[in-house]
Amino acid sequence: MDATHDPQRRSFVASANGHADFPIQNLPLGIFSPKGGAARGGVAIGGCILDLGAVAHLLGGDARRAAEAAAGDALNALFALGAGPRRALRAALSDLLAEGSAQRAAVEPNLYDAADCEMHLPARIGDYTDFFAGIHHATNAGKQFRPDNPLLPNYKYVPVAYHGRASSLRISGTDVRRPKGQRKPASETVPTYGPSRNLDYEMEFGIWIGTGNAQGEPIPIAEAAEHIAGYCLLNDWSARDIQGWEAQPLGPFLAKNFCTSISPWVVTPEALEPFRIAQAPRPEGDPKPLDYLWDEADQARGALDLAVEVLLQTPKGGPFRLSISNTSHLYWTFAQMVAHHSCGGCNLAPGDLFGSGTISSPTEDGFGALLEITYGGRKPITLPNGEERRFLEDGDTVIFSARAQRDGFVSIGFGECRGTILPAT
Ligand code: MN
Repeated sequence: MDATHDPQRRSFVASANGHADFPIQNLPLGIFSPKGGAARGGVAIGGCILDLGAVAHLLGGDARRAAEAAAGDALNALFALGAGPRRALRAALSDLLAEGSAQRAAVEPNLYDAADCEMHLPARIGDYTDFFAGIHHATNAGKQFRPDNPLLPNYKYVPVAYHGRASSLRISGTDVRRPKGQRKPASETVPTYGPSRNLDYEMEFGIWIGTGNAQGEPIPIAEAAEHIAGYCLLNDWSARDIQGWEAQPLGPFLAKNFCTSISPWVVTPEALEPFRIAQAPRPEGDPKPLDYLWDEADQARGALDLAVEVLLQTPKGGPFRLSISNTSHLYWTFAQMVAHHSCGGCNLAPGDLFGSGTISSPTEDGFGALLEITYGGRKPITLPNGEERRFLEDGDTVIFSARAQRDGFVSIGFGECRGTILPAT
């Protein structure tokens, strides 16, 4: 921890002080365009966004290099610089935006009201991978097919994942068209083609890759955390009826490739430093991870304590809370995901994105998908305004948020990841 985490530090940007998500202790990175302007890199400070390229000349050394790398319409070049320049940029921005900053007059013309700006995908995402590290979700989903033996034998050895679809990743706020595909309920003998009847969300955490690795050169677990540029919220929209029919034996395809939504702000590992915790010890009898996935420092500090919340707004009411869970429920650390993904020689690249897998708590109030909350649609929930839901209906909006909180530190958030379901065409 350093001066950038000091809870006494305040910004001359008045809206930052006491801001629920973006006080000066956060400083998340993203790509924005001011009204009528080109897309460019920025940092969120309260209700404003600071143009990074425009203030690069006020900075020196690595911080200047990092700000210049963020001047374009994607953060890949900044991510590629790695942790050193990113940390230098954070320290410099914290001073630049602090109360009493000598540069205030030079900074202010480069601040934009976030309400007037459009947000874009933070990076050009070459590859997207979705993990399955939420053990309570894996258990709940598995129970629907194998009530007595929900987890497959590999689960506690392998950080299970599949390669997802990068082309249909969309920024929060983009509408989500209900997908069509093959549906075959158990009651029917042959499938029909049509709109999904069981459209669901999955509450996940997104992991942005910073520096990559050369093909054939795995990232050792002890170095894996240094390859993570930041985190976001991720909604792995899932058509359960399509998934149930198509996924054997090769896994998700059309059930998930129509759209994946992410929040626009990349919250850095540095901002999350105060909220790092030990990975929860595995229950008695679970195997110890294999050596290439085991690192004492990662076990001691590799997990995050973040509350994640799911809200549902319907055309008739809300938003209503569907669940609240915590990233500490993940069975694998983010570093273990990086080490495993690359251990066979796969090259990761700056701007690659991982999904954590659905984050669920052991208890019903923290289930991260409707599949779990409604037990596969068999037990509909009643919303506070009397409406019922099995799965998502047209016009429904799903809103994710996340909050980091710890005594002695300023709480930070991630902003929102939201999407509204449009009817199938
Ligand atoms: Mn998923």
